[in-house]
This record gives sequence, C-alpha cells and structure tokens, in this order.
Amino acid sequence: MKAPKTDAIASAKVEIVKIVGEPYLIDQDSEKAAFEHEWRGHYRNLKAAFVAVPGNTQEVSSVVKICNRFKIPMIPQGGNTGLVAAGVPHGEGSEVIISVKRLKSVRSIDPLENTIVVDAGCTLQQVQDAADDADRLFPLSIGSQGTCQIGGNIGSNAGGITVLRYGNMRELVLGLEVVLPDGEIWHGLRRLRKDNTGYDLKQLFIGGEGTLGVVTAAVLKLFPKPAAKITGFLGLESPHHALQCLSTLRESSGEWLTSFEIMPRAGVELVIENYSACRDPLPDGNYPWYVLFEIAPSTKNEAFQTDIEAILAEGFEEELILDAVIAQSEQQSAQLWQIRETLVEAQKIPGASIKHDVSVPVSKVPEFLERAYDVCQKVVPGCRPLPFGHLGDGNIHYNVSQPADMKHENYMEFMHAMNEEVHNIVVELGGSISAEHGIGYLKIAENLRFKPEIEVTLMRKIKKALDPDGLMNPGKMVPID
Ligand SMILES: Cc1cc2nc3c(=O)[nH]c(=O)nc-3n(C[C@H](O)[C@H](O)[C@H](O)COP(=O)(O)OP(=O)(O)OC[C@H]3O[C@@H](n4cnc5c(N)ncnc54)[C@H](O)[C@@H]3O)c2cc1C
Repeated sequence: MKAPKTDAIASAKVEIVKIVGEPYLIDQDSEKAAFEHEWRGHYRNLKAAFVAVPGNTQEVSSVVKICNRFKIPMIPQGGNTGLVAAGVPHGEGSEVIISVKRLKSVRSIDPLENTIVVDAGCTLQQVQDAADDADRLFPLSIGSQGTCQIGGNIGSNAGGITVLRYGNMRELVLGLEVVLPDGEIWHGLRRLRKDNTGYDLKQLFIGGEGTLGVVTAAVLKLFPKPAAKITGFLGLESPHHALQCLSTLRESSGEWLTSFEIMPRAGVELVIENYSACRDPLPDGNYPWYVLFEIAPSTKNEAFQTDIEAILAEGFEEELILDAVIAQSEQQSAQLWQIRETLVEAQKIPGASIKHDVSVPVSKVPEFLERAYDVCQKVVPGCRPLPFGHLGDGNIHYNVSQPADMKHENYMEFMHAMNEEVHNIVVELGGSISAEHGIGYLKIAENLRFKPEIEVTLMRKIKKALDPDGLMNPGKMVPID
C-alpha cells in the first residue's frame, strides 16, 4: 500500500493528541524506541510515525477513526514481546502504533461462573494474580508473562507450558470487545459456553495478529485451582522413550497431566554449567534426553503420588526410564522448572541460533528430530541443534546453535536455507511451520510457500471484508495482494 502523505500524518496527530492528551502521544525518537524495537533483533531501524496510547475503548475507537479517515496504517501493540515481528512497524515511519497499555483494569471476576473480564492492556501476570486472589486459576503460562498483555496473547494466540491440559488462548477466550478498522466497536463480551447463533467471530481476532482490529477487552475462562502438584524429571535414552512415558502418564493421569517438556543433555548441561542456582537433578548419570512433567490433580488424593511413583518404578525396571526424581517440596518443583525456563536464556551462550517454532503430530516428533538433525548438518556442518519444548503438544523449538568456530554473521546467512529445509520436513510430516509464535513479517514468505491456495484466498477475502483499505497492521500474516 502507498505510504500516507506527511501532511496527513501531521493532521492526524493534531486530532489524536486532543483525544489522548499530550503525554500519551509519543513522537520523540528516544521514547518511541521501545515500541519500535523488535525482540529478536532480526530487524533494525524500524520507525513508526508516532505512538498513540489511548486511555479507554472509546479513545481507541476515536484514534482508529482518525487514522482511517487519513488512511494511515495502524499497528496494535501490547507488551511487544512477540517473536515474529508482528507488532512492530515497517522502516518508513508511516504507521501509527496503537498501544493499549493504559487499558489495564480487571473489569469483573465471577468465581461461580469461572469467568474474568479484563482490559486488553492487563499483563498476563496481572490476570493470573487476580484469578488467584479469587481462588481460581487462569492457566495460560509463558516465559514473558510479566510483560506480555492479554491483547497480545489474543493477537498471537499464545501457547506455553499448560496447553496440554487447558489449550492455548483460542480455547481460553469466551468473548471479546474489539475496535474494528473503521473505528466501530464490536461489543462481543459474552460469557457464554454455548452460543450457536452464527459464525464464531471472536476466533477471527484470536491469532489474527492485530490485522482485523484492536482488541480492547476480553472475557476469559477460569478454572478451579488444582489441589496438588507432582513435578517430575526423567532421564531417558531417546525421544521414542519420552513418547512412551507420555502415553503411560496420560493413561494414569488423564487430563491432570498439565505439562510434558523435553530437553536434550546438551541443554541441561548448558544450564547447570553456567547458572550456579541450577543443579543437575539427576547427578548419577548423563542421559541423552530429559523430560520435565507436571501432573496437577484436581482433588486431594495422597495415594495418587504413590501411584505415579510406582508407574515410574515400573518404567525403570523395563528400562524405559534411566533415572527419575519427583519433587518433594514446592521449592524442589521450582528448581526443576528453573532448568527448563533458564534454557531459553542459556541458548545465547553458544552464540547465534537459528530458530524454528514448529509442531508435528505428537507421534512424529522422534522422526522429525532425527531428520531435522541430518538436514541441518548438511546446511551447516558442525552446527549444534538444541531442540526443546512442549512434547505433549508436538511443539518443538528446534533451535540450532552455530558451530563453535564460525562467526555469528556468517552463520546467520544460512538462516533461510536452514529454515526451508527444516520446514520441508515439518510439512512432509503433516506439521505446522509456526506452532505458537505466529507469522508476523518473519514467516510470511514461508507461510505462503506451504499454505493451501484456498486458505490464502479465504484469509485475503476476510481481511478485505473487514479492512477494505488494508490499514490494520498491513504486511503481517496475510499479504493483501
Ligand atoms: C522470554 C519469552 C518467552 C516466550 N514464551 C512464549 C511461549 O511459551 N509461548 C508463546 O506462545 N509465546 C511466547 N513468547 C512470545 C510472546 O510473549 C507471545 O506471543 C505473547 O502472547 C505476545 O504478547 P504481547 O503483549 O507482547 O504482544 P505484542 O508482541 O505486542 O503483539 C503480538 C501480536 O499481537 C497483536 N496485538 C497486540 N495487542 C493487540 C490488541 N490489543 N489487539 C489486537 N492485536 C494485538 C500485535 O499487533 C502482534 O501482531 C515468548 C516471548 C518471550 C520474549
């Protein structure tokens, strides 16, 4: 699309400042920088015309109406923790970022109904805490939860470590309030579990990456808090064995199995060697693979933990499990989780990393891991794959560190070649090239390579119907032409 004229931006600014107030129209480079920054650092010198920070839904609507009238592209932004450059501007300084960070009230909470109504600018942590205060659980749990916002979680359909039991954001939203690209407000804050009156419109905005409107509020599902927690760490020979353990624990625990995370020895080593707070939970051996699992029973049942221990002991006798530990306290549980959580940060230590956030059918994970290893070695001999993630959902963060003797920038030149090879395998196995982080700018070309033509056409038609001028987060997820 054509960039708006400079005088259109100046005129819009004069009108918008009257709506939001001077402190909330940010146009100084030093203050804008945080909104223009792209988390992964793939894109630099990104520029927005300015940032508008409205204080309520009505103000969001007014800002959007003004931008629409002047044909100025808009980018809804939450905590800006997204990993695919979906919430940041192009380089030309022609777009307006609309930050919803001032919309941060918990509007209401109903423990009987198990619902909470929140503004889109609430952080995920704030919503978890509000639910906890009402003796309820909001289960979405991701590493960025102190900073990311509910609007961004909805825009990106966030996943994380509890999807196995509770689903991703798509399953956790009952209703939405959205400012549409023409500024009209859709009041869809329904609290219903059943509503068969037509298309489920809210689903268009969940995972819509802000391309169809600005979410201003949401009704979210709450759950009873689990009555107990069993956190375990297993040492295993292979991902095949991990799958067998997954199946066994599912049979014994049903939906109480909340998390099932896999990590290679190289990942665990990286953490325990570099972070003094992290100790090897299984110090008697070096095992090729590890699983961290959590079972959270809904009812108090002391015998249940004994049952799980007996199942693990059986696995040990059958040589399915090489070693195992079960946390005996909340503190030990936190220490086990710390290894998994620290691994995300620790990956920076071996240098540059080429990342893939992919999913395959759960049963295909071992084959995927083997084949991906081989193709990566062909693309960059000596590269060091460090795959980890949510095995229970088939979602692997297939991150590949540079060879020790290669320069960062030389390695990153292979990013597209490696992405293509890994994604080819994913798609051959019936998987997705973006399991939970989305498409944004980063994966738009890769997505078009695989997405069936009819799906791309339908997405374009939906975009055109809701946003005929292509003003809402243009160039992300679904290219208009
Ligand atoms: C350390 C770390 C760990 C992470 N772990 C996970 C993980 O386990 N699982 C996972 O899924 N993701 C993870 N992420 C990615 C990221 O945190 C999530 O995608 C998160 O949901 C983004 O929320 P945000 O508020 O930061 O959104 P932003 O980054 O601001 O925006 C993300 C997308 O949503 C749109 N958007 C934002 N606000 C609105 C709104 N109000 N209305 C409409 N659209 C909107 C934006 O336009 C953009 O397309 C992680 C990121 C980091 C940095």
